Amino acid sequence: TATTLTPSFDLQQVATRTPASIGRVEITDVSKAYGANQVLRDVSLTVEPGQVVALIGPSGSGKSTLLRTINHLETVDRGSITVDGRYIGYERKGDVLHELREAEILRRRTQVGLVFQNFNLFPHLTAIENVIEAPIALRRQSRAEARSLAEALLARVGLADKAGHYPRQLSGGQQQRVAIARALALSPKVLLFDEPTSALDPELVGEVLDVIRGLARDGTTLIIVTHEIGFAREVADRVVFLDHGEILEQGPPGQVLHRPRHPRTRDFLAKVL
Ligand code: ADP
Ligand code: MG
Repeated sequence: TATTLTPSFDLQQVATRTPASIGRVEITDVSKAYGANQVLRDVSLTVEPGQVVALIGPSGSGKSTLLRTINHLETVDRGSITVDGRYIGYERKGDVLHELREAEILRRRTQVGLVFQNFNLFPHLTAIENVIEAPIALRRQSRAEARSLAEALLARVGLADKAGHYPRQLSGGQQQRVAIARALALSPKVLLFDEPTSALDPELVGEVLDVIRGLARDGTTLIIVTHEIGFAREVADRVVFLDHGEILEQGPPGQVLHRPRHPRTRDFLAKVL
């Protein structure tokens, strides 16, 4: 009931609920090569606000590269990517794209959170210090403000009691949940997950998937690279199969995972299922 709500619960709502109308990702005809290696080929993908997309495909097919281009951690050779109609690395003036200054790119990049396979926590900082670092540095939040937000976010991922622990004192699943709290601390419009459970012992996978499930339910736009096919089926609105840098097939999980049209999708699923 309302009388049991604590301030941190309200803050948690603010911190973890993304308004339903934001977080639209539009990828149009994106190509990218590393030298002679053509890694992305005319990739087009639109993700509507609140949608959950599972990106699957063989190792080396370009999944991580695609995520990194959304965040403008990698530039593209051709094509464009916008989040809610804006570029992260550029500004359009008439027909010409102008590259933005580094500070502005960093600011815009915070709209897109990225969670990595290997957590990438700062080892010398406690869980809560990991979470407050970016809001203080990039949002100029006060330490007190950032701490109460971080406490709410750690509670959200089930780690209220681990705020003072260093990464080495946490299990892989707990570290990954801290990494998710850290990504949420900048209130991103979109969250990208790159094989978030691949580095975890099997018994720790579930706790991380539970947190991602919660984010999906709350209406956060999610793009998740995963080999957890069962999870993709359950949580994704759409499954996208990438092979050799090309989207070969996409559609509802029931179709792509159970009645794949492309032989390469069938081959891939036969190997991972
Ligand atoms: P996936 O995540 O699907 O396994 P990646 O996006 O990591 O695939 O890699 C796609 C291809 O791009 C691979 O051939 C990989 O070796 C190459 N690649 C990825 N990152 C770089 C990089 N920074 N420099 C050169 N080649 C890269
Ligand atoms: Mg990868």
